[in-house]
Amino acid sequence: MQSPRRSLFLIGGALLASPMPLQPANAQPAVTPAAGNPGFYRFKVGSFTVTTMHDGFFARPLEGFVRNAPLAEVQAVLRDAFLPQDRLIIPFTVTILDTGRDLVVFDSGNGVTAPTATNGRMIANMRAAGIDPARVTRVVMSHFHGDHVNGLLNAEGAAAFPNAEVIVPEAEIAWWGDTTNETRSPEGQRATFANSARRLAPYAARLRRIGPDAEVIPGVRSVAAHGHTPGHTCYHIADGADQMMFVADTTNRPELLARRPDFHIVFDFDAVAAEATRRRIYDRVATDRIRITGYHFPFPANGYLAKEASGYRFVAADWSSVV
Ligand SMILES: [Zn+2]
Repeated sequence: MQSPRRSLFLIGGALLASPMPLQPANAQPAVTPAAGNPGFYRFKVGSFTVTTMHDGFFARPLEGFVRNAPLAEVQAVLRDAFLPQDRLIIPFTVTILDTGRDLVVFDSGNGVTAPTATNGRMIANMRAAGIDPARVTRVVMSHFHGDHVNGLLNAEGAAAFPNAEVIVPEAEIAWWGDTTNETRSPEGQRATFANSARRLAPYAARLRRIGPDAEVIPGVRSVAAHGHTPGHTCYHIADGADQMMFVADTTNRPELLARRPDFHIVFDFDAVAAEATRRRIYDRVATDRIRITGYHFPFPANGYLAKEASGYRFVAADWSSVV
């Protein structure tokens, strides 16, 4: 067995040197959450408790990620944010809401991944945070891309959240639930049809479809944010005067795409609609000073967006161990 420092791993077809030591050199090669940082973070929204739960990250080639700008221009934005310019690190963080009556998970993480993978840590981190997946009462989906739905299944292929109702945006399931839409979908996204059907199958008897601006549970409303996918949806959470929004994949990492909302990325189903949506959603949260959580934001994946001349600047929220 080789040292993780020297290990190589295959990413998106490119063999890259491990970007960072993920654990001490003398630890076991399989990275376990116990070997790294605890991947959860708590804050309050009124009387509600929100926990952001890290699921790890994925590194992909930077080439081909932004489709409407030269690579050097994309690299310059990453450089400004002190991020690597030879690859793109995409973090995954799931938002969990405890209202006292409901325990809600927004999207499900990457699920079961290879022991050497740098993602798939959500369930282990939930346990580290003292949150039993069996206690989850609702899983609320933003959209059906694999990194958001794969965690619906456990290693045995059964429901990872055995007691949860799954809530899905009507426009999302209408698109991906109808295979006649396949030829009208970008080639790179066609696997979403079969994959999402398989991941949702154990929940068929407890699946709820919601439209835009619908009450999901008391305190949580859907906000249509179509473009990234046909039914991509954000969720507004409020208790009393306090509020936040889970913006899901309105953008991928904000250092790159909030800063440059005009960048069109490879994962956007309809890039023009996605750009219009991100400007609308981000204008709202910037103007109303609404705290946000994002699925691909740098952990702990929550803070604020400030409007700037050409886009938005992400400002991490203040932190305290006292919640
Ligand atoms: Zn995503």
